[in-house]
Amino acid sequence: MHDTIIIGAGPAGMTAAIYASRRAMRTLVIAKDIGGQLQWASEIENYPGFKSIAGLELISRMKEQVAALGVPVNSEEVRDISTSVDEGGMKKFTVTTAKRRYEARTVIIAMGLAPRRLAIPGEQEFAGKGVSYCANCDGPFFKGKTVSVVGGGNAALDAAEVLSKIASEVFLVHRGDAFRGFEALVEEIKSRKNIKLLMNSEIKEINGVGKVASAKVKNSRTGAEQEIALDGVFIEIGRIAHTDFLDGVVDRNERSQVIIDAKCRTSQDGIFAAGDVADGEFKQITIACGQATVAALSAYQYIQLKKGQSPAPVLDRGKNP
Ligand SMILES: Cc1cc2nc3c(=O)[nH]c(=O)nc-3n(C[C@H](O)[C@H](O)[C@H](O)COP(=O)(O)OP(=O)(O)OC[C@H]3O[C@@H](n4cnc5c(N)ncnc54)[C@H](O)[C@@H]3O)c2cc1C
Repeated sequence: MHDTIIIGAGPAGMTAAIYASRRAMRTLVIAKDIGGQLQWASEIENYPGFKSIAGLELISRMKEQVAALGVPVNSEEVRDISTSVDEGGMKKFTVTTAKRRYEARTVIIAMGLAPRRLAIPGEQEFAGKGVSYCANCDGPFFKGKTVSVVGGGNAALDAAEVLSKIASEVFLVHRGDAFRGFEALVEEIKSRKNIKLLMNSEIKEINGVGKVASAKVKNSRTGAEQEIALDGVFIEIGRIAHTDFLDGVVDRNERSQVIIDAKCRTSQDGIFAAGDVADGEFKQITIACGQATVAALSAYQYIQLKKGQSPAPVLDRGKNP
């Protein structure tokens, strides 16, 4: 029986692990990968203490810190959480992965966000073989090649801008007739000679043999279709929370994000949530870390109260008096 199981090992999950273990909670982290979205962030310039740090470097420091505290991190995907009551009348949670089931007094959901998919033929088949969701990570593989970027917001505009410096030609495919991005970025994109704008257009399928070779693009206004020869397709249409298995477990908003209160409590007593998976307008590393701190300390308080002990003040001063 764990005191807490943390689902996710991005900045939120890692921070929750640090705080829970420093409260001597029996802690387990279960995550599909270590680092979450930080893996795709090439340079981070707004995390205090570092003028600039690569996402991978920040992950490796967090990983080292969590390992030094002795918190195990199991590489598994969580598929289900169920609630029950043990013989002593105390509530417990069963967290199920493809491999096994784990039990805990509390759960901290730190599952972040994942790229939204186009859900078109060829997307899954060519993922990692020309289809990418991260221009910063995979852009350098397309030096001198022809690529397309799908999307019309800042992420897509940013990807097109980055790729225009690497690839020979970039087709920016947007289903609307205007971009939803910063004006200056839109102007920059329009000024780049090797960026071709395909407005009111959608990629209908991605084709190739073993790797991406072309994509079928349809203009929704004219109905015209064209097959464009391409080496890569970068999909930048937003990020979503994959929380369907939490249906009936915790309340979520219309974007599938978990609803939390100021103590990072969810609608289910004993389950807490933090970071990008939680409802909230802003998605940043510092916010994920801050919420995870609150979630871990709230989980600690919850257990103390359930045990009938008055919760110790949740100050964590490290080695300082
Ligand atoms: C390209 C890019 C650049 C960015 N740059 C910055 C920046 O410069 N500054 C900044 O502040 N923010 C930046 N961000 C945003 C920042 O990365 C996120 O706000 C932050 O990573 C959120 O942390 P998180 O731990 O909540 O979620 P995530 O980082 O998304 O981590 C989620 C974790 O949950 C795991 N997980 C998900 N579902 C399951 C499941 N069912 N079972 C088990 N594990 C699961 C994942 O494997 C992962 O370990 C950037 C994001 C991107 C994509």
